[in-house]
Amino acid sequence: MFDTLSERLGGVFEKLRGRGALNELEVRAAMREVRVALLEADVALPVAKAFTDIATERAIGAEVLRSVTPGQQVVKIVNDTLVEILGGDAADLNIDITPPAVIMMVGLQGSGKTTSTAKLARHLADKRRKKVLMASLDVNRPAAQDQLRILGEQLSIATLPVIPGQLPTDIAKRALQAAKLQGFDVLMLDTAGRLHVDTALMAEMKAVGAASSPAETLLVVDALTGQDAVNVAENFSREVPLTGVILTRMDGDARGGAALSMRHVTGKPIKFIGTGEKLDAIEPFHPERTAGRILG
Ligand code: GDP
Repeated sequence: MFDTLSERLGGVFEKLRGRGALNELEVRAAMREVRVALLEADVALPVAKAFTDIATERAIGAEVLRSVTPGQQVVKIVNDTLVEILGGDAADLNIDITPPAVIMMVGLQGSGKTTSTAKLARHLADKRRKKVLMASLDVNRPAAQDQLRILGEQLSIATLPVIPGQLPTDIAKRALQAAKLQGFDVLMLDTAGRLHVDTALMAEMKAVGAASSPAETLLVVDALTGQDAVNVAENFSREVPLTGVILTRMDGDARGGAALSMRHVTGKPIKFIGTGEKLDAIEPFHPERTAGRILG
C-alpha cells in the first residue's frame, strides 16, 4: 500500500547523489519524506514536525557508514530516534511493592478498558505469578460490573462481589480492604468510562485515586481512533497523574503512529498493547517493533 521509507529515501538520494557526510540540503529533502511517512502512519502533524526537527539536527553532518547508502543511514538515524522517543527499553509495571499494588485503569467507554483489565490480570497471574483481584467501579453502565465478573470467571481471576448501589470510591475502599485481608498481590480497578472526557468523569477518577493510592494509573486508548486518541490522552494526562498507556486494537490497520503521538503528548510510556479480541491478546510494548511498523 505504501512505499517503504527506505524506498522513498533511496529516490531522494539518487537525485542528490549524497556521499560522505550528510549535508543539510539532503537531510531536509529526506526529512520531508520522513514526515509524509509519519503522517501516513497516523502520527499527529505537530508531533511529526517536532520529531523530524530532532532527527534533522542529528542527521546533518552525520557520517555515512561505508556499508550503507545515505538513504539507509537516514533511515537508521530516524529509526534510532523513534525507538528512543517511544521509550527505549520496554517499560515495566511498578507492582513489586508492598501488596496490594493497585492498578487503576482509566479511559473512555469503548476503548477496551474492561477487556484490557481482564487481559492484564491474566498476564500478571501467568507471567508474574501474581494473585490478582479485579473490581469494577463502573456503576453508570448497568452491564459493566457483570461483564468484569464474567471475564473473571472465564480466566479464573477473582472479582470483588458487587454490592448494588455502592459508589465508586466506596467500592475502591472495599476492594482495597478485601485485597489486604485476602492476601492479593495486585488489585485492578476498572473505572467507569464515558463517551467524552468531562469534569464529572475527571472528578471521579481523582476521588478514586485518592481513595486507593494506585501504584499504576494506566490510560487505555484505542489506537484506531488516531487524533481523537491523542486528544483523549492529552485531556486525561492534564487531570490525572498517569503512569502509562495501554494502546488497544494494534491488531487493526493502524500503523502505530498513535504510539508516537501518545508518548509525545502524555510524556508517559506505553506499557502494553492490545492485539486482538481474545483474552490472551496483550503484549508488553516493544518500541523497536512499533518503530519498524511506523516506518514501514
Ligand atoms: P470498555 O468500554 O472500554 O470497557 O471496552 P471493552 O473492554 O468492553 O471493549 C470494547 C470492544 O473492544 C470489545 O468487543 C473488545 O473485545 C474489543 N477490544 C478490546 N481490546 C481490543 C484489541 O486490542 N483488539 C481488538 N481487535 N478488539 C479489542
